[in-house]
Amino acid sequence: MAEADQPAGRLTLDERIMNAPINADRAELEKFSELAHRWWDPNSEFKPLHDINPLRLDYIDGIAALRDKAVLDVGCGGGILSEAMALRGACVTGIDLAKKPLNVARLHLLESGVTVDYREIAVETLASEQPASFDAVTCMEMLEHVPDPASTVRACADAVKPGGDVFFSTINRNPKAYLFAVIGAEYVLNLLPRGTHDYAKFIKPSELAAMCRGAGLRVESLTGMSYNPFSKVYALGANTDVNYILHCRRE
Ligand code: SAH
Repeated sequence: MAEADQPAGRLTLDERIMNAPINADRAELEKFSELAHRWWDPNSEFKPLHDINPLRLDYIDGIAALRDKAVLDVGCGGGILSEAMALRGACVTGIDLAKKPLNVARLHLLESGVTVDYREIAVETLASEQPASFDAVTCMEMLEHVPDPASTVRACADAVKPGGDVFFSTINRNPKAYLFAVIGAEYVLNLLPRGTHDYAKFIKPSELAAMCRGAGLRVESLTGMSYNPFSKVYALGANTDVNYILHCRRE
């Protein structure tokens, strides 16, 4: 039967996807769209992402061996990590729900000469269209901006192949994280625009680990990402007080 002839009440897959509530906060997406034109300026609001990128890239590549792997980058924004993974030989799909950052990401491919498939689609939708299709999924600095992070975690788990790697990075929730990520970065160092982060949406590693286990992911390791404002040096290590990466594997 042609889709147009469907009786009322019976929805096509496309209609069900269109009608599904989207796990996104419009104001958050607009915030990233407004800043999008500065995404690749290493001295812009996105400086922390540029500075941390080589470290997180090496970390991910060290575990997932990116060359020739199918990788999904969820909440890819302007593509700082997506492109870097493609440069390491991965076949990368980058998804986001903010239009302007995606356009910036597509334009930047002309400069870098790599290929990334950028799509404006929710991870929940992509995971239902293409379940168990990626060797690795990255979801960096995005969970603290969505209304229902557990739904994002479940969709990342659905999108990765059994045995595949999933990497989440986000911000811990404690007084030190508030001081560093909100007061320090937004008010003292002016690293980020004020209002970038909402403390209530920060996620403790134990909470994220529970979401992962609930989604059928086995937690493999927890790594801290720290920034020393005096030496201006970023490092990966044991200190998970503020920023951290959780690496999981699908059972
Ligand atoms: N992951 C990238 C960008 C982080 S900035 C990096 O680490 O380099 C956060 C990104 O998450 C923005 O691009 C924003 O548009 C995106 N985002 C926020 N809510 C989202 C949602 N519900 N679905 C998809 N992307 C979202």
